[in-house]
Amino acid sequence: MTERPRGKRRPARAGTDAKAGRARAIGAGKKKAEAGHRLVADVMLAKVARWLRLAGIEIEDAPAGDDTGALRRAKRTHATLLTSDVELFAMAKKHGVQALLIDQKDLDGQLAYAVRSLGLRVESEPENALCSVCGSRLRVVGKETAMRHGIDSNIADRYDKFYLCGGCGKVYWRGTHWQRIVDRLERIKRLAAMQQKDG
Ligand SMILES: [Zn+2]
Repeated sequence: MTERPRGKRRPARAGTDAKAGRARAIGAGKKKAEAGHRLVADVMLAKVARWLRLAGIEIEDAPAGDDTGALRRAKRTHATLLTSDVELFAMAKKHGVQALLIDQKDLDGQLAYAVRSLGLRVESEPENALCSVCGSRLRVVGKETAMRHGIDSNIADRYDKFYLCGGCGKVYWRGTHWQRIVDRLERIKRLAAMQQKDG
């Protein structure tokens, strides 16, 4: 990625506990993530993280404003770092942090590669989604609760079921926008399966 402003990078302090041993970096899908394994996305992959959460996959955002924050967080929480930055990927390897380098330019390609490489399970129903913003679980609520959380009455009139985020209070419903989300998630599943076949 060339558009990232340079110069703010400072050496990661992550390598201090070298005794922890070196975890093997994940390269091109050589190793599957264990179920429930934590993931952290770097700032360039915030959109990928949002979509993975919609697919029901837990992934943390990098702390804002610091290139190596994602690396430090991954190190601290024993998570796998998803990054599109070659230098950050190299730094992760150096510090024994598991990392996946995502160098695809298009969102579909990035998502499919992450799904295939990490063996992630994509859920395309809103019941299984996590909040795209904060990653909390959603619960089904009725019109009244949805309206209390800011949904307009004209939308509330048209749907019976809403999904309320237990973390930030964002409300989701199965409008045309959700159908587009489902379409993309289904496409990602197909793409990931095709990549699998291609090796
Ligand atoms: Zn939320």
